Parts: sequence; C-alpha cells; structure tokens
Amino acid sequence: MPPWKPGSHQWPKRKPCLHERRGVTANLDDKPLPVVLESVPDEVLSSWLRRHARYYGVSEATLLCHCDPNARSMRQLDLELTESQGARLAHLFRRDRSAIRVMTLVPGRPDSTARHLVGQGRAVQTCGRCARGHAAAGLRGVVLRSWIQGWRLTCLACKSPLSEEATQVDASPATTPDGLWREGRHGEKLLEAFITRSEPSCGLSPIALMRLLLLPRVPRPIPLYDPAARKCRVLDLVVPAADQIKVNYANGLVLPLAVRVLLLAGVAIAAKQPREAVAMMRSATLGENRHRFDRIAAELSRDPTRLFSEKQLS
Ligand SMILES: [Zn+2]
Repeated sequence: MPPWKPGSHQWPKRKPCLHERRGVTANLDDKPLPVVLESVPDEVLSSWLRRHARYYGVSEATLLCHCDPNARSMRQLDLELTESQGARLAHLFRRDRSAIRVMTLVPGRPDSTARHLVGQGRAVQTCGRCARGHAAAGLRGVVLRSWIQGWRLTCLACKSPLSEEATQVDASPATTPDGLWREGRHGEKLLEAFITRSEPSCGLSPIALMRLLLLPRVPRPIPLYDPAARKCRVLDLVVPAADQIKVNYANGLVLPLAVRVLLLAGVAIAAKQPREAVAMMRSATLGENRHRFDRIAAELSRDPTRLFSEKQLS
C-alpha cells in the first residue's frame, strides 16, 4: 500500500484544539480518511490509531486531536470511549460504531473496577504466535487487547497461552499445577463474560471474588512472630500452595501470569459454591476483613439468586 502524501488536502480553518494550543499542529481535515488500515483481530483501538498516525506521517498528538480535540490521551479512548467519540471515529475511519467500541479494553463497562484490571493501559504480556504473524505481515507496533487485559491467560485471537515479554514466563498447562489450568481458563471466561457483556452486578461478581481472594490471611496456628505470615493470602485456602509464589500484591489486580492463573482458578472454584467459599475464607481473616465476609454471607443468605452462575458463559 503506497504511503499517504500529507499536504494534498485543503485543511479547513477552525478553532485551535487542546493539542494545537500546546503547539501541536493538526494536519487532517474532518472528512473520512482516504485510506483506512485494516485492523488485525483483537487489536486495541490505540494501536490501530497509532498505526494510522505513522501511515499519514503525523504525530500521535495530532491524530488524537483530530479524533477528539478534548480527548486526554489514547488510553482514555481505550478505556472510556464516549458515544460522541465513538461516532466521530466511526465517521473518520469509515467503520460501524460497534466495530470501534469492540476495540476498546472494557467495552461492557459494567463496573468501573474493571478498569483496574488493565493497569496502566500498556501491554504487560504478549502472544509470540501473533507477534510473529504481525512481523511476517510487515505490521509494526500492533498491540492486541488481550496483551493489556489483566484477566487474560490466553490470546483472544489465536487461543495460545500468553507470556510475559520480559521474562518469557507463561501460564500454560505445562507450567501450571495439575488441574488448575482448566480452572484458571474457567475463571478467565467468567471475567470475560462479566466485563464484556455487561452482566448485572451480582452478590459476588468475579472481580469482587478476586479482591476477596487477595485479602490477607491469618495462618493457623497464629504465629507469634513470622514476617512471612504477612504475605499469606486467602487464595491459598482455595488454591493450596498459592502463597509459595512471591508476588507484590501492592501493584493491584494486574498480577504476573504465574499467580494470575491461580487467582482465576480460585475465582472459578469459589464461584461453584460461593456460600461455602465465603464461610471458609471468613474463617481465615480477622477484624474488618472478617466483617466484610460477614456482610457478604448475610447478603447471600438473604438473596442467593443474586449469585452469578454458569449462565454468564452462555
Ligand atoms: Zn495470539
């Protein structure tokens, strides 16, 4: 495909936008772009937009300004695409609004906490198979949504296990304890269904379960002094040996793949019998965390029909 030659348009005069006031000059008009690049399966919106910026020879800020003068960043478009932004992108890039929406990171947005599962919006994992395919096709800088989403174990495009780019560590059937890969994949599907299909928030959403499983656990018998005890998590009750993996839980819900697969397995296991799981998790906590489980148990007793079920996967 021949590169676009900037300057062949007659640019309309208009009020300077945010990025132009910062010294970045817009160089595109409001007509649909003459050449629109094909997106690759599961490509995230910002990746597709950045490829257009490179193709047209304009800066990322210029293209962002053209997409929406008030847009704060590409990350904002990925995470919080508004109706008007979606409509304008659909016009400029000659796509359906739904096709634009599906390229965002949390298209269902049932719960703002889902955004915590995409971290800083940067790729934290990759799929070697897809990356090699992009390179072979001459596509530079492609980023897939599943490389950013912190609840994924597998690539949405090719179903291969994802790996962490820096360490080449992956979570796969070969590296995960017996049986837990299948449960982890089940948990991944629960999260995917909840986040992308706007399932109504229920008594124990999968994201709520993730948070509960990551609460500190008080080992029994209670040690007099053991610094390692502070790193014990409720997850270890549901998935034994999870505590043996050293993880900095202060970084939020986007966890390394080796522990993410165990956490998702824990979600899947706890979701099968939530009342029993809540009772077990409660027994290993103290103080405010125990009160939290008390409130959840009371809620489940009052209205057990609010629990999420396998229907979310259908
Ligand atoms: Zn892939």
